[in-house]
Amino acid sequence: TLPFTGKTAFVTGGSRGIGAAIVRRLARQGAHVVFTYQNSGSDAEALAASVRAAGGQAHAVKADAADAQALSAAVAEAARVTGKLDILVNNAGIFLPGAIDDFSLADFDKTLAVNVRAVFVAIKAAVPLMPSGGRIINIGSTNAHRMPFAGAAAYAMSKSALSGLVQGLSRDLGPRGITINNVEPGPVATDMNPPTGDFADLMHGLMALPRHGTGEEIAGMVAYLASEEAAFVTGAGLKIDGGFAA
Ligand code: NDP
Repeated sequence: TLPFTGKTAFVTGGSRGIGAAIVRRLARQGAHVVFTYQNSGSDAEALAASVRAAGGQAHAVKADAADAQALSAAVAEAARVTGKLDILVNNAGIFLPGAIDDFSLADFDKTLAVNVRAVFVAIKAAVPLMPSGGRIINIGSTNAHRMPFAGAAAYAMSKSALSGLVQGLSRDLGPRGITINNVEPGPVATDMNPPTGDFADLMHGLMALPRHGTGEEIAGMVAYLASEEAAFVTGAGLKIDGGFAA
């Protein structure tokens, strides 16, 4: 049998990019995957349909991560089928750039609402539904450790907030047999971070492996952390960044 047969997984922001690769990977390995989107309804439905066409189980739910009620309801909906939730992947995230002089408080609040508060909200909704062996995986960023460009301070702050969150929550959740970790990618080719252009070249110049990663590479580390094999990994941030922060 596949490693995630009989497991239910919930992935935020699964319609595009890294989240979509995570949905495909967990479903291919047997999980029943419920994932959220905000605006990309047709991408989300197409992804769910292609997973089902390949014999997997996936289901898309519209839920703005910044809306605590909608997000909590989506988590509950994910557990409705099996009565439990085994794997939570907090992937939805936004990058709003801007130098300090122009950066609005509205953008600051939005960055925190999606990148940090939503992670806490989803975890709070998921934990009562998680059996021993449960897995919580957040998509952080190598920018929690190295932010070599101006205009990205709020984003970097939001991702380093997740480091403290998993360290603290590993202590709350360890006694229940639940692990919690951050996967911390470097540049990954998505709509958020296109792999060509001057800025891409600049980033490659900082890396030991001068290229963008793929969503599939990130999904591989998520699948490892979600697996039985990773039972002793908790409270950690695992960089997967081509040496960006090395
Ligand atoms: P994309 O912008 O390509 O995709 C973002 C996904 O998140 C979409 O599915 C989008 O849904 C969803 N999303 C965004 N905001 C919300 C919201 N408020 N509610 C629900 N869903 C939302 O991003 P990536 O795939 O590149 O990034 C995924 C994660 O990885 C983020 O947390 C990001 O910070 C992190 N990351 C990315 C890196 C990169 O280089 N790409 C590097 C390091 C970390 P919809 O399609 O409906 O808009």
